[in-house]
Amino acid sequence: MRWSRRPATPLPAEPSCAQVAEVLQAYLDGELGPQDAGLVAAHLEHCERCQIEAATYERVIAAIRRQRPPAPPEVTDRLTRLLDELAPPDEGSSRP
Ligand SMILES: [Zn+2]
Repeated sequence: MRWSRRPATPLPAEPSCAQVAEVLQAYLDGELGPQDAGLVAAHLEHCERCQIEAATYERVIAAIRRQRPPAPPEVTDRLTRLLDELAPPDEGSSRP
C-alpha cells in the first residue's frame, strides 16, 4: 500500500497542525522536498501533538511492513496457473 499523497501547494512558512498532518505521510516516506521537509521537522520540534501523530504513523507503517512478507512460492505458482486457465494461449490470433 502506497500512502504517498503530494500536497497540491507548498507549505507556508508556519504550517498549521492540519497542514502538517496533510503531508506527514509523504514526509515520513521521504517524499517531501527539502524545503517542506524542513518546515515539517521544525513544526514537529515544538508540537507534541504532531510528534505523537508522526510516531503513530511510523508504528503503523512498520506494522504493515512486518505483516507483508513476500508471497510464498506455492501462492505465486497457484496464481500463475489460475491466470493460465483464465487466459488460454491463442498464438494465432495475435498475428495479422
Ligand atoms: Zn502540530
